Amino acid sequence: MPTESDESNHMGFLQLALAEAQKCIPTPTAFCVGAVLTVHYPADSKSVTLATGYSRELPGNTHAEANALAKARTMSKEQLKELIPTLPSDFTIDDVLSHADIYTTMEPCSVRTSGLAPCANAIIDARIRKCFVGVGEPDDFVNCEGAQKLKDAGIEVVWLKGLEGECLSAARKGH
Ligand SMILES: [Zn+2]
Repeated sequence: MPTESDESNHMGFLQLALAEAQKCIPTPTAFCVGAVLTVHYPADSKSVTLATGYSRELPGNTHAEANALAKARTMSKEQLKELIPTLPSDFTIDDVLSHADIYTTMEPCSVRTSGLAPCANAIIDARIRKCFVGVGEPDDFVNCEGAQKLKDAGIEVVWLKGLEGECLSAARKGH
């Protein structure tokens, strides 16, 4: 069972993801989503923020989760080592990501019509441990099966309770 402080940690990181979602430039044809990648290395240590991302932050019709992953991959070894001093000397970014969790205001997408890879695939490829979700994706655009896709790949999906309304209204800003 998670302890009370774990619970408030999770909500704290979801709040951070929500703050990222608020940075999105709204568009009628897509959602505004925020994501936070956290890492705890070794596994029983406290989580720290590795990278953040929001919808369309990087050029193109990019998504929050994929952007957070892309930003983490551009970090230098020195930056990573400073953030996570417990890393072994021969670490790679893949080692770091395999100790990472992602918090997202909305269920990661499983279908993309734009030609970019769905976020669920990016999360699976990075071997992220757990995915904490603020709210399920409504079927405004496509039928999302992101959570199921992650579970099928062995990634734990945790639905956080309490900020569903905030996550949804942030997502639909501009609609
Ligand atoms: Zn996506």
